[in-house]
Amino acid sequence: MTAIMLIELKGVTKTYGQGATALQALKGVDLCIEAGDFVAIMGASGSGKSTAMNTLGCLDTPTTGEYLFNGVHVEKLSRDQRALLRRRYLGFVFQGFNLLARTSAQENVELPLLYRGEPARQRHAAAKKALDSVGLAGWEHHTPAELSGGQQQRVAIARAIVTEPAVLLADEPTGNLDTQRSHEIMDLLWKLNIDHGITVLMVTHEPDMAAYARRMVRFVDGVVADDARNPHPVGLGPDAGSAPQAASQQERV
Ligand code: ADP
Ligand code: MG
Repeated sequence: MTAIMLIELKGVTKTYGQGATALQALKGVDLCIEAGDFVAIMGASGSGKSTAMNTLGCLDTPTTGEYLFNGVHVEKLSRDQRALLRRRYLGFVFQGFNLLARTSAQENVELPLLYRGEPARQRHAAAKKALDSVGLAGWEHHTPAELSGGQQQRVAIARAIVTEPAVLLADEPTGNLDTQRSHEIMDLLWKLNIDHGITVLMVTHEPDMAAYARRMVRFVDGVVADDARNPHPVGLGPDAGSAPQAASQQERV
């Protein structure tokens, strides 16, 4: 076992508020994630999934415990250092797409590069390439209102990958989509994982979507209650059934 741990949470707690109204959303989370993995995070509403994702995404810091990203102690970084780490290594996709209205797909996707101060020519080229890779060539000049929900989520994914992140964090990315569109988005996430080697961390309520992941982590009441490898992720396609590692039972990690 010499796998490189990209992400390590050690005894992470998160408390919102203080005194009598304090609420402990995370109660000691231990979680290691290898580079290149595809992890589904499941659990009931209020179990701490989004809090864990915000911590992993360097949007928020643990109250206690350690978070190592590529061996760097994130909990010891300043706010600005965390922002740099975020911009350099992480991409985000949300349930509600979070695109700028009245702004073209192209401009939405260019935004993270604008923050990085990249020149216009490079921004245009990179955004076009990202939109191509999510199947939206030809839709560059449409605004969110002119796109379907599935297309809007594709734009959001293009925006998340335009910076070539190491990790894609997706919090219920198919939560607002119908089944067909959800599977298309999952196929896309799977492809990004396989073809681009992007580590994918995805929160989902839906077992059909979690089935694409290589690993399933279940949160219960602020802790990781269950953590299992998926021996046969859906994204492997029908041919994978004959693969020697395919087994009918989930192995424990
Ligand atoms: P999940 O994503 O699994 O539904 P969350 O991580 O959003 O769960 O929430 C875990 C718990 O923390 C919930 O009880 C929620 O109400 C609480 N919580 C989440 N964010 C905040 C916040 N910013 N302030 C106070 N409480 C919060
Ligand atoms: Mg949530």
